[in-house]
Amino acid sequence: MIDLRSDTVTRPTEAMRAAMARAEVGDDVYGEDPTVTRLEERVAEMFGKQAAVFMPTGSLANVLAVRALVGPGEEVLCESAAHIARAELGAHGAVSGLTMRTWHHPRGQVDLGQIRTLFAPDLGPYFVQTRAIAVENTHNFAGGAVLPLDDLKALRAFADEAGCGIHLDGARIWNAHVATGVPLAEYGAVADVLSVCLSKGLGAPVGSLTVGPADLMAETRVRRKRMGAGMRQVGVLAAAGLHALDHHVERLADDHTHARLLAEACGLDPAGVDTNIVVLPRDDAPGFVARAKAEGVLVSAVGPTTVRLVTHLDVTRGDAERAAAVLATL
Ligand SMILES: *Cc1c(COP(=O)(O)O)cnc(C)c1O
Repeated sequence: MIDLRSDTVTRPTEAMRAAMARAEVGDDVYGEDPTVTRLEERVAEMFGKQAAVFMPTGSLANVLAVRALVGPGEEVLCESAAHIARAELGAHGAVSGLTMRTWHHPRGQVDLGQIRTLFAPDLGPYFVQTRAIAVENTHNFAGGAVLPLDDLKALRAFADEAGCGIHLDGARIWNAHVATGVPLAEYGAVADVLSVCLSKGLGAPVGSLTVGPADLMAETRVRRKRMGAGMRQVGVLAAAGLHALDHHVERLADDHTHARLLAEACGLDPAGVDTNIVVLPRDDAPGFVARAKAEGVLVSAVGPTTVRLVTHLDVTRGDAERAAAVLATL
């Protein structure tokens, strides 16, 4: 089987497992796991921020990042297909007590016109106040679309003028960085807080981080424990993340090449594929998924008429070519 359902299906490589086995560990709730601390300091520095907090999942990294900017009874604005709005099971409302309003863009992009219209300043006891704007780069459900840096800078200028924060869901910021060459610190500079994921394209089995200013990250560490996600000797997992940062970032370019190859085989313009995700409109998505599976290729239906293919560390050039040949016949 060639598994193109998601970039979360990767298994740790032998070298990553060896790094995990060697990891120096301690009790991280006491702040005594040197490998976790090294990962947190390294990731914070990569994005030009003061601090980072290791999280078990990207969803928790997002929930606590948004919570750092937005309190109960306040709101965050985001795009309508954002992961925080669609795929975190309402955690931001259920757990943080905050509300969301959305703008819509078919490619998940920043739309300053709509954002200006939605933005609600503090008007006292009348309207919910907008405290943050959240963006997602790359945008998962928009097919791994990259958000151009100029749009993010314009959003930063608006947020500064309006007096609100910016959260960047950077689960796949590594893909955006490799696809565009924009330094990670430039993405860090447009956001107050961000989340990054080590268990997607980078191939670690577990691990995400919330990244931001020291004071907000100190609060985030308290909230993480309150959520029951204070972890002990998790240097074994942080070591997987450090290994991934050393060895699995630049190679994301291969995933992007493979995704364009698959898009072309499916009759799409490969120029429309920014990174490692291909969104394929098909009349009968579940039927297409079943026929592909019968031919040894796993893909997913993300809607009744939408098939999604995702390339990753465990898909070689040969796998991508074989899958492309199968998908072309379907
Ligand atoms: C996968 C993903 C996350 C976090 O996912 P977890 O499965 O909770 O680790 C967050 N944002 C985006 C855009 C994602 O694709």
